[in-house]
Amino acid sequence: MDFKDCRSMKVVLVSHCHLNQNARLWKCAECPASCRLLVEGLLQQEIGIIQMPCPELMVLGLDRGHIAIRSGLESIPAREALRLLGRELAFQIRQYQDCGVKVLGVLGKNGSPACGVERTSRSDGQGPIDGEGVFIQEFRAELRRAGCELPVIGTMDAEQDAALAVVDGWLRGKY
Ligand code: SF4
Repeated sequence: MDFKDCRSMKVVLVSHCHLNQNARLWKCAECPASCRLLVEGLLQQEIGIIQMPCPELMVLGLDRGHIAIRSGLESIPAREALRLLGRELAFQIRQYQDCGVKVLGVLGKNGSPACGVERTSRSDGQGPIDGEGVFIQEFRAELRRAGCELPVIGTMDAEQDAALAVVDGWLRGKY
């Protein structure tokens, strides 16, 4: 295989709402559209951006502010749906890795009951607490199943410069 053209051969996975805040729970968007600093920083480094699906939107819908989100995500059918989302992403990652594209890592969203990596929320909506979101749990399991090794870290919308610093470390081979 020879992919030698103008592509950068490097990609990063970001949570859906890094690029589209319209997916957020009501009254929870932190900017009108995208995490601009992060997105522009990634593009400046010529890093392709893979937008992961919004797990809460895909499982619970957009108008989900009236339900217990973590409990909803932890039901057996919801977990199965999240597993499938994770499996599709793991397939993409495997394809890139097998073809020599560097998959730098995954940027989740700390505090989220779905996308939190180091910090998440409880079933009663309280948080943040230490632990992983339900989607990240299922996604990690699918990454292991597919034999994909890559770093997964949590970010905050208010700390986009910190997320860029992490990506910069990944570019230098720091994991
Ligand atoms: S579930 Fe994840 S992608 Fe969707 S709004 Fe929450 S943090 Fe963002």
